[in-house]
Amino acid sequence: IRVALLKETSAGEKRVAMVPAVATRLARLGLAVTIETMAGAAATFADEAYGDVPREADGVAAVRDADIVLAVQPPMPAVVAAMKPGAILICLLYGGQHPALVAQLKAGRITAFAMEAIPRISRAQSMDVLSSQAALAGYYAPLLGAVHMPRILPMMTTAVGSLRAAKVLVMGLGVAGLSALATAHRLGAITEGYDVRPETREQAQSLGAKFVDTGVDARGEGGYARALTDDEKAQVEAALSRHIAEADMIVTTAAVPGRRAPRLISAAQVAAMKPGAVIVDLGAEGGGNCEGTRPGETVTIGAVTLLGPLNVPSALAQHASELYAKNLLNLLQLIVKDGAIQLDFADEVIAGTVAVHDGAITNEALRRALE
Ligand code: NAD
Repeated sequence: IRVALLKETSAGEKRVAMVPAVATRLARLGLAVTIETMAGAAATFADEAYGDVPREADGVAAVRDADIVLAVQPPMPAVVAAMKPGAILICLLYGGQHPALVAQLKAGRITAFAMEAIPRISRAQSMDVLSSQAALAGYYAPLLGAVHMPRILPMMTTAVGSLRAAKVLVMGLGVAGLSALATAHRLGAITEGYDVRPETREQAQSLGAKFVDTGVDARGEGGYARALTDDEKAQVEAALSRHIAEADMIVTTAAVPGRRAPRLISAAQVAAMKPGAVIVDLGAEGGGNCEGTRPGETVTIGAVTLLGPLNVPSALAQHASELYAKNLLNLLQLIVKDGAIQLDFADEVIAGTVAVHDGAITNEALRRALE
């Protein structure tokens, strides 16, 4: 079984789908890896680190004989066109946003795994790239915020008196939010967390944070949140305003599957914040959790700095790639049995993650979005 590892071509993407330490374990599964030259370079992994494996100068040449192609972002059309019919593509597909790519995968009879669609069941946790990448993005967010703050995070006692610890509020306590709370706590800040799923109260408290109770319970399906009604939004806004106004840093991470990022902070609430306060909006990718967020930019609104970073895991490309590669290894162990590719569509992980197979869209949500 031949596996091709692609070099990422999307702007700002530094990650690589397979790191050398994990690639050696693919050989034990009976997989022979070919890498596109410089595949891991942006993530600090030199070609030589992959050992004595074949290297190809470009993606088209790398995938030509491959049975399985590994990537982070969807490959360029020319690379998909060079894949063998029946070959497998594994990447973050987001097919709903790439209808032309999906059409090409169908026409080319490629089997495409959408890593963002790994089901949220315990057995699949080790393959869940959204979680592994969100843990890193959440870790990083308070660091990004900290360097934009005109004050320090911990309490500091000096010869001329003490400086008070900063208050950090994290809104949205999924994987990224809890990770952000942990970083802020380690840096010495006083931390508060807020989410619409009540089970996050204890999770926040276990990380040393106070939970902000708004009295709204919006537990949705599959461990996700549902969207709020207008009444609930008003109730939440009233309860949160004081906490927003008192925060020195806010990290927002709220997401509802398949929808635009929910608006958690209004322009009026930003205007009421302390001078020098910073908001790190990890919801920027989905349009932003804060009114005024410009995805990919840092803006100043009055005396408040508002960051809308995109692809945060890429900033931690070395570790992000390591976790992504381990997620892929765990998936490959499910696909490759006794040295052969065996796609068991009765397995809910396979069935849930394969988006296109044998000329058809096999994912119900994607089919509804595109057909
Ligand atoms: P997510 O990225 O979809 O959303 C981030 C957070 O935003 C969630 O906690 C959500 O409740 C919150 N949110 C949504 N709307 C909000 C609003 N209006 N106000 C405030 N907060 C709002 O979530 P996620 O990080 O992917 O994970 C959500 C849950 O699923 C977590 O409990 C996580 O542990 C669980 N999970 C389980 C598995 C598994 O079992 N395999 C895998 C991944 C995640």
